[in-house]
Amino acid sequence: MLRRGITATTPPSERLPRMSISGIKGKTAVVTGSTSGIGLGIALALAKEGANIVMNGLGPEDEPQNQASIQAVKALGTRVSFDGANMLRAGEIVAMIQKAEKDFGQVDILVNNAGIQHVSPIETFPTEKWDAIIAINLTSAFHTIRTSLPGMKTRNWGRIVNVCSAHSLTASPFKAAYVAAKHGLAGLTKTVALETAESMITCNAISPGFVWTPLVEKQIPDLAKSEGITLEQAKKKVLERQPSRRFATTDQIGAMAVYLASEEASAVTGTNFSIDGGWTAQ
Ligand code: NAD
Repeated sequence: MLRRGITATTPPSERLPRMSISGIKGKTAVVTGSTSGIGLGIALALAKEGANIVMNGLGPEDEPQNQASIQAVKALGTRVSFDGANMLRAGEIVAMIQKAEKDFGQVDILVNNAGIQHVSPIETFPTEKWDAIIAINLTSAFHTIRTSLPGMKTRNWGRIVNVCSAHSLTASPFKAAYVAAKHGLAGLTKTVALETAESMITCNAISPGFVWTPLVEKQIPDLAKSEGITLEQAKKKVLERQPSRRFATTDQIGAMAVYLASEEASAVTGTNFSIDGGWTAQ
């Protein structure tokens, strides 16, 4: 027996009563690396719940891909700005948070998502790639957190969400810097959670397995080349680690970020949520 108004053709997502989500409307969220992939998925999901968004990413604001992303978030009707701070540079990161506080009055939700990848055996791993991955995937979160926490503490409310990875819990060969940075970010998440545990500030991590985004797409040709296989075979090979054999979606990661930012998640802190199709269950 179907509920009133629900027919056999109603999509599954509309059949269930909506889970209660409160406390996000009118808040301000800074989402690093939100012009693409997972960060964009999170920015869209938070904006749908009524948050104002400070977007961030590489390249100028008027670059077509950046513009398309900014316009997609703006279309949801909340206040949206863009800051091109480079997550390699502490000064730009601090200035981004300070500008967000000045322009929007406060930073309530901080999502540390910007990240890059490089795949190489450790003996030949380029030193500059190691430095960049540690800086963007780990150290940038130290700077955004230390700069936004004082304001969150003054208001006694804050949500920090760090986008880690299955590689924060497990390792793969040839990803030395990425695995080190993501394990580090998972550790930082726990430390910040403990330092803020008595306040109404939470700090949690989301650890996706493979999500179909430009970051993953870029790895496919390299894998195909190194293994001497086709692009389609390389795509399948990537999913060998993921028991579901399906890529997770940016919407799914966005939904978890919304939950963690909500009032309903106020008792959840210091955790690391896997969205990885069973990868870390193995
Ligand atoms: P993506 O390449 O699609 O997007 C990366 C974003 O980061 C872009 O907006 C880019 O402009 C920004 N960025 C990169 N370098 C930057 C810099 N120096 N300064 C400012 N912004 C910068 O990547 P994605 O797949 O969406 O990954 C997002 C996060 O999710 C990363 O931290 C990644 O490690 C993590 N992650 C991704 C997957 C996956 O399968 N895609 C899995 C686990 C974790």
